[in-house]
Amino acid sequence: MTIETVAIIGLGLLGGSVGLATMEHAPGIATRGYDRDPQVREKAAARGIVGEVCDTIDAAVNDADLVILCVPVGAMEAAASELAPHLKQGAIVSDVGSSKESVGKALSRTLPGHTVIPAHPVAGTEQSGPEAGFASLFTNRWCILTPPEDADEEAVKTLSEYWTKLGAKIEIMDAKHHDVVLAVTSHIPHLIAYTIVGTASDLEEVTRSEVIKYSAGGFRDFTRIAASDPVMWRDVFLNNKEAVLEVLGRFSEDLSSLQRAIRSGDGDKLHDLFSRTRRIRREVIEQGQDDERPDFGRKDHN
Ligand code: NAP
Repeated sequence: MTIETVAIIGLGLLGGSVGLATMEHAPGIATRGYDRDPQVREKAAARGIVGEVCDTIDAAVNDADLVILCVPVGAMEAAASELAPHLKQGAIVSDVGSSKESVGKALSRTLPGHTVIPAHPVAGTEQSGPEAGFASLFTNRWCILTPPEDADEEAVKTLSEYWTKLGAKIEIMDAKHHDVVLAVTSHIPHLIAYTIVGTASDLEEVTRSEVIKYSAGGFRDFTRIAASDPVMWRDVFLNNKEAVLEVLGRFSEDLSSLQRAIRSGDGDKLHDLFSRTRRIRREVIEQGQDDERPDFGRKDHN
């Protein structure tokens, strides 16, 4: 199986980055893109984030060997049914959605008889839209593929090779397992950031302007995460409901236990936990998943 043309549906942060990364790292593959928003299409064309921006989904997908859905998780099914009648025989359909079980089911239901291999590049920023994408977003980041049990092995191999060319490291995982892992590493941290920033701005005894004026490092880092796209994250929580609620239950218990430790003056408990979490931060850096520099070395992309 060879990919000569890739169609990217949804030209925001992820779609733009897939387009730019393909053009830079796999220049032999033609890139076509479509977004339902005409203004996004206009900006995408002006920035040149894909080789050709198409005005219809039909024109984008009709001779594509690989179609990648880069729309919010809640929009995957609608986008898939719109493109279904125009798919080339034998094309691989994939996506970049942040939750996998419900998306995999929705795509398989909407595209019977087609090769569906869901995927999730674990790479992103708090930015969105056609101005936000960049070619190196996937460099050294994991891309998790969650093929259905009866998936065509050749198609899984072709998709893995494609993401490897874009700079990603590949992991194959069961969709349900993916959703629990990502609930822990991404979805709950986002929920905590949304909560703490919301709570701080609601507190009656300090005004919102004081929260912003005196925002210390910890709060500032949370505001970065809490600035992430509202539509994307609403859909993630609605679609990864089971795993998020399960992990949230455990998190609430741990939080209550810390509350007890503070109330009872149990400094050892606090110190033990903070030492363990500091070691985890070191491991994250050692494994190349983050950067020790101020602003995590991300300044260039903002
Ligand atoms: P984004 O910047 O908001 O881009 C999504 C684009 O898709 C928007 O322009 C949107 O248009 C368009 N769209 C929505 N429904 C569509 C449809 N039916 N047909 C065609 N275009 C449609 O979002 P993003 O951050 O790139 O996220 C895209 C996907 O990547 C999501 O599934 C998300 O879970 C996943 N992801 C995101 C990150 C991250 O950090 N952002 C990381 C990994 C994976 P409208 O504005 O008109 O709706």
